[in-house]
Amino acid sequence: MEKDLLFLKKFFGFDQFRPYQREVMTEALKGNDTLLVMPTGGGKSLCYQLPSLLTEKLVVVVSPLIALMKDQVDSLRANGLEAAALNSSFSAKEERNIMDLCMSGQMNVLYMSPERLLNEIPRLVHLNIGLFAIDEAHCISAWGHDFRPEYTRLAVLRESFPGIPVMALTATADKITRKDIITQLGLKNPTVFISSFDRPNLSLNVKSGLISRDRHQEILKFVFQRKDESGIIYCLSRKETEAMSDFMNSNGIQASAYHAGMDAESRKKVQEAFINDQAQVICATIAFGLGIDKPDVRWVIHHNLPKNIESYYQEIGRAGRDGLPADTLLFYSTQDLIRLRQFAEESGQKELQLEKLQRMQQFAEADVCRRRILITYFGEAFETDCGNCDVCRDPREHFDGTIIAQKAASALIRMEEKAGVHMLIDVLRGSRRSEVVSKNYHHLKTYGIGADLSFYDWQAYILQMLNLGVFEMAYDEHFNLRVTPYGRDIVHGRKKIQLVKPKLIPIIKEDRRKKRFAEIIAEAEQELSFDEKLSDRLRMMRRNLAIEEQVPPYIIFNDRTLQDIVSRKPQNLLQLLDVTGISDFKADKYGDVILDTILENTGKKARAKGDTYQETYRLLKSGKSIDEIVAIRKLSSTTICSHIAVLVGKGNLVNVFDYISTENYNKVLKANKIIGQTEILKEYFEYFAGEIPYGDIRLALAEINRRQPMDDELFGDD
Ligand code: ADP
Ligand code: ZN
Repeated sequence: MEKDLLFLKKFFGFDQFRPYQREVMTEALKGNDTLLVMPTGGGKSLCYQLPSLLTEKLVVVVSPLIALMKDQVDSLRANGLEAAALNSSFSAKEERNIMDLCMSGQMNVLYMSPERLLNEIPRLVHLNIGLFAIDEAHCISAWGHDFRPEYTRLAVLRESFPGIPVMALTATADKITRKDIITQLGLKNPTVFISSFDRPNLSLNVKSGLISRDRHQEILKFVFQRKDESGIIYCLSRKETEAMSDFMNSNGIQASAYHAGMDAESRKKVQEAFINDQAQVICATIAFGLGIDKPDVRWVIHHNLPKNIESYYQEIGRAGRDGLPADTLLFYSTQDLIRLRQFAEESGQKELQLEKLQRMQQFAEADVCRRRILITYFGEAFETDCGNCDVCRDPREHFDGTIIAQKAASALIRMEEKAGVHMLIDVLRGSRRSEVVSKNYHHLKTYGIGADLSFYDWQAYILQMLNLGVFEMAYDEHFNLRVTPYGRDIVHGRKKIQLVKPKLIPIIKEDRRKKRFAEIIAEAEQELSFDEKLSDRLRMMRRNLAIEEQVPPYIIFNDRTLQDIVSRKPQNLLQLLDVTGISDFKADKYGDVILDTILENTGKKARAKGDTYQETYRLLKSGKSIDEIVAIRKLSSTTICSHIAVLVGKGNLVNVFDYISTENYNKVLKANKIIGQTEILKEYFEYFAGEIPYGDIRLALAEINRRQPMDDELFGDD
């Protein structure tokens, strides 16, 4: 096997490269500059981390956010690599330690901010550096949304280190930014890799026309169906984030609000609770997300329409970074349009913002594959339907909606175009609301002509008609609706219109709600299959380990690994090593706990035996001596030695020379040449006339068996 694949498995636990990972690495290893544009979750970090192992040289990474550096360092260390982030929180001594490791060539990856890098150059020139990686390289561009002036000074790298390749990485695809990165960093004929912007693992779903209370119920149902899965609910205002979080908590879901109005300390707490899987749901304004790299966010809900497609894509992009399926759900209503419209008008870039809002609205009302609209918006060709959006899964049913449009438009004309969406629907449906009566609308000829449709249907149709240009909204006049010339053509029978049947959403009556949700939970629990239970247990175990080690649970092992464990149910360490994301280091560190959990859950007959080896193994790994284990487990030393002998036989689990001297080993080895077999311990015992204890003989023979075809005497007598 090629060395890079071998290292990929050994240090990261993966079997294959993702698209472009190998290509960009190969270029960098040849000493060439590169630019890699890859969406979030595509696997950029590996591209600069693995080269440090392949070249045995230090990789210096420039990254803008301290929180992200810490995460990366934790996950590298969790795989047994040496990594650190230089930042101001270190004491002089700690810093010296880090620098010592760099000097002696033991450090694999060193992270720092751009400011820090500029200051460190005099020290860096003494190190054996193989690669500079500039993460979030779009920060260099004043055109981008994340401009950081310090980045623009990084060109100095090219001058100070002419022989060392630079790898620039970003998830921002647009052309101007790309060009900016190359010129400003002074990259020399860089090879540019651009992977698709698409995130096929994100499902796209939109529900339109629901009033706020019904959205709440829909969201609750959605979350109930996703027990233990982390998610974010984006709301438009601070007040809404708090209301939503209260609503979730009152229904037994651990949720927290997050918005820019909170002080830094509370915000940090909320972030940490989310990262550590202690808060399942975050109800946030757009302020949430930057600086968060949680890979296992399983869903994102937009309680309201976002203000443009860029924000929408960035926000849903926080889900499913680990590449596993994740769901996104967007709600929107005329009320959202009204508010966003106001924001846009006040924004100082009115025309542009309104245009962007319009595109967002078109996306939400789309009756063709949503992903096609999204990806095309970013300038990439996308020629087939995706199969993973609500439109693809449940194609829209078009019908001749001329009569519906005529009813609505003529009712509006008779109301002298002085009604908003709500009033129009009330009149169409013949409501007795006092405001309807006081305006004498109940005497109109059109009063009640739309009573055959529900409020919800009308909401949905009016949104469609707004989008199709039958109506427009007078944003400057109480948001009243107006009939456009096209709408008048329809009223007079000169033009026709196609509408799309809204999807019926069953709405649960208030008094039955509590019961219904209790039922949903009960059903969900009953239906837990064996695998789901195992996965629950593993999750719990992972959380405990994470608390012990003070890292986020996904650093211990991520959801993909968890799923793979559940589907393979490894019974021993060798099988565990086949699991994706299980590096040698992790197998060694967590192998026993993971295997234990599986054994406990599979309830096999062999369990008692399996457990007893595991228990001994765990105690050995925690540094206990054989005598101590004998005392703790109240078993004979013969039994404990036989456990160790089995563990020795299983490969690299324990090192036999931690328990016997090389001297005794070599004696047994010599005796083995004479006695020949390895089964009957008594013969050896008598051969040595009791000079070597049984336990040592057993362990030495286990080691001899293990090495059988490999070699002979390994150790001198010194
Ligand atoms: P990015 O920086 O591009 O957003 P990351 O580097 O954080 O993405 O990687 C996203 C996820 O994909 C991580 O959980 C990482 O472990 C995983 N990953 C990276 N490369 C591979 C691979 N070759 N096989 C399987 N998983 C991978
Ligand atoms: Zn689709």
